[in-house]
Amino acid sequence: MKNIKKTNNDGYQVLQNPLILDIIDNCKGLTENEKDKLKEIKLTIRKQRRGYGGWSWVGNVRRHYVTIPLWTLENPKNARSQKNMTDAEAERYFEYYVLHELAHVLQHLDNPNDSGHSELFYSHFTRICPEEIQHFESGYKPRLAKAAGVPARSEEKDAKFAEAMKETASELEAIMKLEPKKLTKLGDRNYTLLARGAKTTGDYLEGFYMVEEDMYIDEADHIREYCKWLKDNDKGMGWGNYEERFAEFLNSDKPAKKKPAPAVERNIARFKSPATAAKKFAKALRADGYEDAVAIDPKRCAECGYGNSWAVICEDAPYEAMVWLSMGESMYTEPWTSNGKPEYKLMGADNWYTEPYNSYVLCFVKD
Ligand SMILES: [Zn+2]
Repeated sequence: MKNIKKTNNDGYQVLQNPLILDIIDNCKGLTENEKDKLKEIKLTIRKQRRGYGGWSWVGNVRRHYVTIPLWTLENPKNARSQKNMTDAEAERYFEYYVLHELAHVLQHLDNPNDSGHSELFYSHFTRICPEEIQHFESGYKPRLAKAAGVPARSEEKDAKFAEAMKETASELEAIMKLEPKKLTKLGDRNYTLLARGAKTTGDYLEGFYMVEEDMYIDEADHIREYCKWLKDNDKGMGWGNYEERFAEFLNSDKPAKKKPAPAVERNIARFKSPATAAKKFAKALRADGYEDAVAIDPKRCAECGYGNSWAVICEDAPYEAMVWLSMGESMYTEPWTSNGKPEYKLMGADNWYTEPYNSYVLCFVKD
């Protein structure tokens, strides 16, 4: 593949990717002024499942970007939204994809408050995307594209797609309600895990950290409290009495000692597994006041339609922070001032990469 340089830090990330610059240069629908503006923003091709086009606050500067998934070049026929793509169509899928994302940037330049696949978006899209490749849009956003008068290729997917979108929305709602649970029983599964950890580490609290990844996300906090209580009170447990011990913990007069604020992990990439990275990141966000941050496992992630990977959902995070993180930028916890408050960094990790699903979902994908 010509013109794509491999960089050290994250796969195929190249700033101002020349292939995208070519598309801008050759686009008949763009004015010269628009071309100049678009060529100045961050234009990248990345290993990820979907592209993004928009803007975000970086510190107190509003910056625009476009990111295009590498598969649109390598395997355009894999596009989930398209059926039976011909070779000739596949040749131009990348161009369509870039123009779709650039239309988002033009939309934001026109009206920073406008977002999504709005009328304004489609007014730009239909203007800059050559008519003969506009039909790709009908696979991607069938109802919206139709409403905007974008020519369709096939209509049969409309209903299916709308249905899928509805499901995603309600699943997401369910996840946002997933709060740490208080257990009434420790349970056989948790005891077995803890016993395994403690056997190796010699201590339930250390053992907990060893097996934490295998616990249910919403139970782990309470179990950690329990393990800390065991340690602080110099207590053990065994097959015969683990539920009794847990009950003792629940009934203990003095509430479990307030645990020290968890160490906030700023350099997410240092974690070897996507599971650990996602969980530590979510935990750190919560410690920083983003209380809705939650890590979801691949099963749940797939159920939500985000693909089969670990992911962190945080709707409270600064606007599009997840997108920037995935591009190796920082996430400022104080988007307006960046006044010495901590920031998160996420340059490329060795065994996994990240991609945003939207502005508040970040997927941690095994490489
Ligand atoms: Zn879009």
